Amino acid sequence: MKFVLATHNPGKLKEMGEILSGLGVEVVSPADAGVTVDVEETGATFAENAMLKAKAICAASGLPAIADDSGLCVDALDGAPGIFSARWAGEHGNDAANNQKLLVELADVADEDRTAHFHSSVVLVRGREVLRGDGDVQGVIGHELRGSNGFGYDPLFWPAQTPGRTMAELSPGEKNHLSHRYHALKDLASRL
Ligand code: IMP
Repeated sequence: MKFVLATHNPGKLKEMGEILSGLGVEVVSPADAGVTVDVEETGATFAENAMLKAKAICAASGLPAIADDSGLCVDALDGAPGIFSARWAGEHGNDAANNQKLLVELADVADEDRTAHFHSSVVLVRGREVLRGDGDVQGVIGHELRGSNGFGYDPLFWPAQTPGRTMAELSPGEKNHLSHRYHALKDLASRL
C-alpha cells in the first residue's frame, strides 16, 4: 500500500521517503498524488498539527497519508521555538533568519546550559484509522553555523551521539539513523 507524505518541505520529503523505504513503506509526494493542500497549523502541539496535515491530505487525495510536525525545543528558552520552529523569525521557512535569531537569543547562555532536542510527531491517517509515533534527538546548540547538509536548525545542532559534528555535518544516511523523524517513524511503523 502507498502512502502520501503530507509535506511540501523538500528536506522532510527526502528524509521521510528514505527512512520509510528502509522500513518497507512506499510513499509518494502530494504532487505525485495530484494534490496541493495548504494546511493551517492551528494545533497547540506537534501531534495536533501532524493530525491536521495528515487528515487534510488523506481527504484531498483519497489515499492513506502520513504527516510529520517537528521542531526544535531549547531548554534555556523554556522549550521555544517548539511548534513555531518554521516561522520563529517571522517568515515561514526562513532557515537563515531562524538560526540567526537562535544565536542572538542564546548569546549570554553558557555552554552547559545550551541543551536542546528536536521532536517529531508523525501521524498516519488511513480511512478511520489513526496511528501516531513520536521521537526525539538530544543535543546542544553551537555558537556558529557549521555544515551544509540537512535543513533548518541542523547547522547549529550538535547531536549528543556524534561529538564534534553538527547535524548539518552528518551524511544524509547518518542523520536518517539518529534523527527525531527516524525515531518517530520507527515508532509509527511498529504500530502498522
Ligand atoms: P513544520 O514543517 O511545521 O513541522 O516545521 C518544522 C520546522 O522545524 C522546520 O522548518 C525547521 O525549522 C525545524 N526542523 C524540523 N526538523 C528539523 C531537522 O531535522 N533539522 C533542522 N530543523 C528541523
